[in-house]
Amino acid sequence: MILALDIGGTKLSAAWIEDGHCVARRQIAMQYNEAAFLTALHKLTRSDYPVEKVAVATTGYLRDGRVWSVNLNTIPFWKGFPLADVLTQRFNCPVIMLNDAQAAAWGEYLPRRSRIRNLLFITLSTGVGGGLICDGELRSGPHGLAGHIGHATVNVSPLDETESRCGCGRQGCLEHVASGTALARQATALLQQPLDSRQLFALAASNPQAEAILSNAARAVAQAIADTLMLVDIEEVVIGGSVGMADGMLLRIQQALNTFPPLFNLPVTSAAGGADTGLTGVADWAARR
Ligand SMILES: [Zn+2]
Repeated sequence: MILALDIGGTKLSAAWIEDGHCVARRQIAMQYNEAAFLTALHKLTRSDYPVEKVAVATTGYLRDGRVWSVNLNTIPFWKGFPLADVLTQRFNCPVIMLNDAQAAAWGEYLPRRSRIRNLLFITLSTGVGGGLICDGELRSGPHGLAGHIGHATVNVSPLDETESRCGCGRQGCLEHVASGTALARQATALLQQPLDSRQLFALAASNPQAEAILSNAARAVAQAIADTLMLVDIEEVVIGGSVGMADGMLLRIQQALNTFPPLFNLPVTSAAGGADTGLTGVADWAARR
């Protein structure tokens, strides 16, 4: 049995998978300090199932079994956190880890691989992540960074400020315009009331400023898609994450892409696996190893 874990910016999910079928699933809130995280992880994974392999999809990038955040505003203790050692000690079995968006890219590639071999997955969620499938292989890269499209820069500024610095330290990142955190920040500043991204989507139908924030974010995503197309060439883009799957976001991105010359138009579709794509992807990835 494989225990698949998805460690995201806001929640921790676990699924126990036998022969590709999920026999149990659990979810709890993410914790942002090390002690609370370890307690939550212990509580989440307590079971009598005989775990033979642990498959982990985690936010951040991975080096030598340790996890690092690109944006330390997301999870402050993700600064070389020894996740592989923690899980190996707890389960005493092989631990296989992938970045969460890379895992989701693999999960979304599986149902599409009979017709395509090159795919970009973008998750618009608390942050913005991504994963690349090139010639039928998941690209991780020598630094584990492949597909981290949230920290590629775009020529679109957020609507709440002109000088923008992302949590990674650079200016002009896609994440600073189009993540759930960035949408909430812009909505709160422009509409002068505390708003989260979910409330922003609800307001967009009646409030032009709310719609402008979402359309601007979609333009930034479309730019990042076009840049990726030019850099590595892809056949399809899949959009996931709570913001990406929210009402009308896919259509806004498609419309923004359609304003570019025909060369840049490529299919943009919605994540088929929904919120569990990362779990599905990393479980399949681990089962092959
Ligand atoms: Zn950045």
